[in-house]
Amino acid sequence: MENIIVNAVHLRNPYELSLGKEEKMSEIISKMIENVVIIGAGCAGLTAAVYAARADLKPLVIAGPMPGGLITTTGVVENFAGFPEGVEGFDLVSKIQAQAERFGARIEYGNVESIDLSMKPFELKVDGASLRSLSIIIATGAGHRHLGLDSEVQLEKKGVTYCATCDGALPIFRNQPLVVVGGGDSACEEALHLTHFGSEVYLIHRRDTLRASKIMAERVLNHPKIKPVWDSVVVDILDVAQNKVTGVRLRNVKTNAESTLSCAGVFIAIGHVPNTALFEGQLEMDEAGYILRKNGTSATSIPGVFVAGDCTDSRYRQAITAAGMGAAAAIDAGRWIGEMAAADLK
Ligand code: NAP
Repeated sequence: MENIIVNAVHLRNPYELSLGKEEKMSEIISKMIENVVIIGAGCAGLTAAVYAARADLKPLVIAGPMPGGLITTTGVVENFAGFPEGVEGFDLVSKIQAQAERFGARIEYGNVESIDLSMKPFELKVDGASLRSLSIIIATGAGHRHLGLDSEVQLEKKGVTYCATCDGALPIFRNQPLVVVGGGDSACEEALHLTHFGSEVYLIHRRDTLRASKIMAERVLNHPKIKPVWDSVVVDILDVAQNKVTGVRLRNVKTNAESTLSCAGVFIAIGHVPNTALFEGQLEMDEAGYILRKNGTSATSIPGVFVAGDCTDSRYRQAITAAGMGAAAAIDAGRWIGEMAAADLK
């Protein structure tokens, strides 16, 4: 590894360098090198920050476009251990953030525009500024999968939404027929939430059995306001000409028959895609874009780069598993920095 001049402000590790008093602040800043930069501030990134801060690594968290992550768009989280009464998604991440900050983690609300993992230390561009770090923890999470229709894009926020918790109570949806697309736990959760506002809720699913967990599926199928529409896909959202949602055009995948269903809102809950475009061509990923981990650890295909949460996990995708992976990534990063320092001192 090239001769490393480290962050004189944050860092206390074997690389630490006493900078001469005559050195200008701009020169000092340009030489700053973080121990660990955590990209993403959801459950995974913030838990990594708690662990890294407690290991005295002085982590820097770049919060990205969605501070708090996807869980902030959920209502009550009932399955995060330690909260017997449940906890609001937003409150949960706020508490983890407060815990990380209490131990010295720094949270910056910027966007990572590019990253060069071929450089040592790694180089990131954050809102135009350059940053170097000995290690990186990627915790960029996942975003909503889209249907891929032009009308979906044109009518987004005009009746098309990806979050019933955020938008369900809007006046345009009150006492109106509403559509939810999808057959997983998210779609069921959205449909149940919307029963408080809509006159009826149509659950459009491309098969005739739900993917959702048994308990959620039973709640949905037994709800008098929820009407499943099986074996059907949305082929168009109406009506772009009126600049608002008035219905959906459906196609039955078994018969190919098309039909129209009137509604005032379309809530799309068909899963997620990992936010990993930034690392394409640099890290090994699977065909869906999830970053691959090595030997059951958080290590990626590049030493010093670790990964946690929904951007690497297509299987569990739970807040608590993301948090656990964040903890593991911080432990791995700390060990890696220690090993690297020890090797350099030999
Ligand atoms: P998911 O389990 O992957 O389900 C996605 C659903 O969308 C599936 O039913 C899928 O159909 C359908 N779908 C995918 N692409 C589609 C397309 N292009 N057109 C139409 N339909 C499409 O995703 P999720 O519901 O977001 O759940 C993700 C994870 O979070 C799961 O592990 C889930 O258990 C968890 N979760 C838990 C809770 C809770 O416990 N309260 C709440 C939300 C989510 P197929 O079934 O045919 O594949």
